[in-house]
Amino acid sequence: LVNLEAVHKRFGEFEVLSNINLSVSEGEIVAIIGRSGSGKSTLLRCINGLEPVQQGRITVDGTEVTAANADLNNLRQRVGMVFQSYNLFPHLSVERNVTLALKVVRKTPYAEARDIAHEVITKVGLADKFGAYPDELSGGQQQRVAIARSLAMGPKVMLFDEITSALDPELVGEVLRVLEALAADGMTMLLVTHEMKFAKTVGNRTVFMHEGRIHEEGDSRETLEHPRTPELTGFLDAVL
Ligand code: ATP
Ligand code: MG
Repeated sequence: LVNLEAVHKRFGEFEVLSNINLSVSEGEIVAIIGRSGSGKSTLLRCINGLEPVQQGRITVDGTEVTAANADLNNLRQRVGMVFQSYNLFPHLSVERNVTLALKVVRKTPYAEARDIAHEVITKVGLADKFGAYPDELSGGQQQRVAIARSLAMGPKVMLFDEITSALDPELVGEVLRVLEALAADGMTMLLVTHEMKFAKTVGNRTVFMHEGRIHEEGDSRETLEHPRTPELTGFLDAVL
């Protein structure tokens, strides 16, 4: 579903991503870990076309993202992305935050958009917050609305960039449970995370980024319990 072949990404002289080869099948959940600055966010941003690459080929759901004439607006409707900061519209209710893109981008009629919003808001466990405003919600609830907003577009793959990093520890669990529910539904996901326990339990595969390269990858449990390189061993010692 997601394919990267020999991808190189530079900011000026600096090579942020070096020869990335990665293939993610439908329903697979890939955890991406690594030190700050190792290129994790850049990798996700390249996958949904937010950053151009200098070399290599990226395809998502049959669309070549790296093609000169790629229809990135269409692509981004099939690739959901959620960040650490949820960026909800403060003056719009939960319902309106979720239906906005459907109405603006898809021109979905109101009744249909509302039904879709109901479904995805219920899926993230916020059926009772339909009419609430973002400042009436906890950080964990706001992050779940951000996930619902992304799900409303019916994405084929979801990209999550450290979505629990800004949350108080007691709110992390409720967001991770939403990801577990998505995993159970068979959603294809790439998630940058510092939650090693979560990477191990939910991720089928773990990719360890180091200095812009995929330094190690494999079955999550195997990779995290038996690191093969000193770099991954050092990283795991530092975060655990
Ligand atoms: P973190 O864990 O801190 O989020 P990361 O692994 O997500 O780190 P990236 O954000 O992908 O790392 O950044 C990788 C490298 O690319 C860093 O050295 C960063 O300074 C550099 N970088 C990122 N964006 C830009 C940019 N727009 N221009 C120049 N350099 C950039
Ligand atoms: Mg990052």
